[in-house]
Amino acid sequence: MDDCIMIDNLVVFANHGVFKEEKTMGQRFVISMKLYYDLYPAARSDDLSKALNYAEICSFVTEFTQTNRCCLIEAAAVNIADALLKKYSVLTKVEITLKKPWAPIGLPLDQAAVRASRSRHRAYIGIGSNLGDKKGYLDLAVKKLSEDESCIVRKVSEYRITEPVGEVEQDDFLNGCIELDTLYSPHELLYKLHEIENAAGRKREIHWGPRTLDLDILLYDSEMIHDSVLTIPHPEMAKRRFVLEPLAEIAPFARNPVLGECAVTLLERIKRNGTS
Ligand code: ATP
Ligand code: CA
Ligand code: CA
Repeated sequence: MDDCIMIDNLVVFANHGVFKEEKTMGQRFVISMKLYYDLYPAARSDDLSKALNYAEICSFVTEFTQTNRCCLIEAAAVNIADALLKKYSVLTKVEITLKKPWAPIGLPLDQAAVRASRSRHRAYIGIGSNLGDKKGYLDLAVKKLSEDESCIVRKVSEYRITEPVGEVEQDDFLNGCIELDTLYSPHELLYKLHEIENAAGRKREIHWGPRTLDLDILLYDSEMIHDSVLTIPHPEMAKRRFVLEPLAEIAPFARNPVLGECAVTLLERIKRNGTS
């Protein structure tokens, strides 16, 4: 979506910089922003309450830039973009250009500038528990993600009781799926999910054994990742009915980019072939 608000050349006096003089005396920074969001609701209704208030945005960015001091303009620009995405949930993407006019390098130049682009990512998280208060642990995962300012929980599936698969004798699972918009990178998100599993007292004893809480990244945009800690899409998702049923419930057309097929098609195939 290309709809956006553009704000050009907002001048802010602030104290970013590596040098002592920059930190103490401060200098002018010039900030331009492209704020992407769906203009349609505001445009159709011509209603101010449905629009982003650019006067308020300029005040917010001015205050944020003055109070969050950085050495590098790279850091300052990314921090502004993140802060805007955290504050305004309708924004899907933010581009910040941060200019430093007459940077003090002892040579004549107009300005040095950086441009940072940050956007929300759509992820699907498979959630499961088969130990203790199973529903309580799944609810805990939803709550912790909802409270995280880098995440917005968009949808939560029904929780389903499912029989365990594999060799280990263990109790039934309660499984579900979360649709998440997040500012985290895939690896940051994995780290966050591990933190939540740990908060639920997850012990890693037997592989595929009983667990209080298991949080798997099923999909992250249409990214394909395979390294020592992370594989996305989740390599087992196409074989697992307990993953595909809740995923197809909340996102039937979410597409596995490796297989080129969406959740509902993968689920139909499993039902036909009668695997787990
Ligand atoms: P399975 O991944 O087959 O469902 P599991 O969930 O029981 O098995 P865990 O013990 O929870 O496996 O995770 C082992 C490791 O898998 C994690 O520490 C993590 O680094 C890695 N991993 C790789 N890809 C993913 C992913 N997409 N989501 C979550 N963890 C992943
Ligand atoms: Ca798992
Ligand atoms: Ca896991």
